[in-house]
Amino acid sequence: MSEEKIYAVPAAIAAKAHINAEQYAAMYQRSIDDPAGFWGDQAEQFVTWSKKWDSVMDYSFKADDLHIKWFDGGKLNVSYNCLDRHLATRGDQVAIIWEGDNPEVDRKITYRELHEEVCRLANVFKSRGVKKGDRVCIYLPMIPEAAVAMLACTRIGAVHSIVFGGFSPDSLRDRVLDSECKLVITSDESVRGGRHIPLKKNADTAMLECPNVETVIVVRRTGGPVEWIDGRDIWYDESIAAAATECAPEEMDAEDPLFILYTSGSTGKPKGALHSTGGYLVYAAMTHKYTFDYQEGEIYWCTADVGWVTGHTYIVYGPLANGATSIMFEGIPNYPDMSRFWDVVDKHQVNIFYTAPTAIRSLMRAGEEPVKKTSRQSLRILGSVGEPINPEAWEWYHRVVGDERCPIVDTWWQTETGGHLITPLPGATALKPGSATLPFFGVVPALVDPAEGTLIEGAGEGALVIAQPWPGQMRTVYGDHQRYVDTYFKQYPGYYFTGDGARRDADGYYWITGRIDDVLNVSGHRLGTAEIESALVLHKDVAEAAVVGYPHDLKGQGIYAYVTPMAGIEPTDALKKELVAMVRNEIGPIAIVDIIQWAPSLPKTRSGKIMRRILRKIAANEIDSLGDTSTLADPTVVNDLIDNRANQ
Ligand code: ATP
Ligand code: MG
Repeated sequence: MSEEKIYAVPAAIAAKAHINAEQYAAMYQRSIDDPAGFWGDQAEQFVTWSKKWDSVMDYSFKADDLHIKWFDGGKLNVSYNCLDRHLATRGDQVAIIWEGDNPEVDRKITYRELHEEVCRLANVFKSRGVKKGDRVCIYLPMIPEAAVAMLACTRIGAVHSIVFGGFSPDSLRDRVLDSECKLVITSDESVRGGRHIPLKKNADTAMLECPNVETVIVVRRTGGPVEWIDGRDIWYDESIAAAATECAPEEMDAEDPLFILYTSGSTGKPKGALHSTGGYLVYAAMTHKYTFDYQEGEIYWCTADVGWVTGHTYIVYGPLANGATSIMFEGIPNYPDMSRFWDVVDKHQVNIFYTAPTAIRSLMRAGEEPVKKTSRQSLRILGSVGEPINPEAWEWYHRVVGDERCPIVDTWWQTETGGHLITPLPGATALKPGSATLPFFGVVPALVDPAEGTLIEGAGEGALVIAQPWPGQMRTVYGDHQRYVDTYFKQYPGYYFTGDGARRDADGYYWITGRIDDVLNVSGHRLGTAEIESALVLHKDVAEAAVVGYPHDLKGQGIYAYVTPMAGIEPTDALKKELVAMVRNEIGPIAIVDIIQWAPSLPKTRSGKIMRRILRKIAANEIDSLGDTSTLADPTVVNDLIDNRANQ
């Protein structure tokens, strides 16, 4: 690719950061040489335990003896750690700032208020027969009650399974059945971009086929019309008003399950990742503090939805365990206009801002003006998560949003990993746009040659695996342990297989090249999707691009690119030619884009990720077998691409 740029740690950031470059190197070394000592110290520092553990770690990554245990024998309660222990020192500090879809509506909730509401809801759960170990489904929009419900589950040891509020009744039904939930909490409606979505109605439809759900708790969000089943349905506000304000936290074992969360569904049938209590909390709190260099009193905003793991770890558990002030945003980046994110940053004086490349690219498409007319002076750290961030988008984020002042932490991780695995630390890591940089403490990434199965030393490219466990690692696929073993531990014996490909450069920096299943093989050369897409996005007229392979008589696989032009750009054959030349120049003569199809929009998961497996089917003309499309955000996008496909 084009000459690599390096951004040094800004002096102002380094001066007060928790961790500088020397500290990172020393701590990382210790975390690898003496993991038990290292993690024992972290667990003491970040979490309050009612009983100390017997052993810090006990694991085997061998498929026939797979087990992973952290802090075994230790006892704790997550809601105690996120709430009670803060009351004496920061009871009146704001825990959650809620910013409504409507810019005129917001709400601030202190740690004391949050504690009381969590206790009340926990008592409601109990009165409806929910016990330790039972599963509760949370199907809510981005309102504070979602965090209350999560914490109320942890208070009594119930296991939550959050289903993103944008999912359809069928997706909800499948997840409720798979995790065998007995209670569902939802709202009358949700509000996004000024539109109302009938959440309770969706839940009712799903519940027709979920006989084991005994209770549906309904939050009054809009007051919109709902149907009611007496005996099953109860109002949230009425029931918590009648509940006691104290609820003793249930003492949980470190290895007790904390939550189930289905992966985003980019690559196939979603898996119910099960996370456990002690290790997850230690990892969530520690990564939140160090990756974002969170400083006491700062306002922190992660724009994810609590329906994704990012919302679990980096809106609720990590920030609240650290006593932070965390923003929950109900709306979308382009409502009421393209300045919304930055207006919210100014309104609440946000210091740390964490979002996804899909949002950055869509904002980029609208130009600089909506950003530049806002101040953003409060911003100190920017973050990215969910997909590889193209260097072009990184530079824009850095220059236009961060005024070249704010380090960008490009955090690579997964639902399965619970928290960041490869990420810069703001005060320690020089940045290279497009690289997730270096491993977090205790994380030992390795690259394997996918054909030979041999380890790659030094610089090189291959399948990304992890050689040692970390506390936030998922423990099983709920209800299907064999799928866990098969998916993550069979392919490369002795390693956790991430499913992603990566390149390691001469400085030891990692560059995620995309899903290993998406890697193209063009005339015997392996090409990652991320690299080609980044080359396309370099062009000033291109907003977004997705690349897949398709069967090609001569090359084995040809390169098929779906390209979304910038707002107001007329797609022409001349532009196609420029793009082909651009990719060839950036990557090399092997990277000849064979087909470009203009795509007004790309098919994405509801979490905003490009679904290349569907694009691959369209490119190969296999439109009768598109596979599981239930996690697709907007199915009409697919029909449009099929109608206009370039490969007929
Ligand atoms: P499924 O597993 O159901 O196919 P998914 O992999 O999209 O869905 P998530 O766990 O939400 O579900 O996403 C994790 C994946 O997202 C990673 O494996 C990686 O491919 C991608 N990803 C996340 N963060 C980054 C990042 N900073 N850089 C590159 N890729 C990233
Ligand atoms: Mg995945």
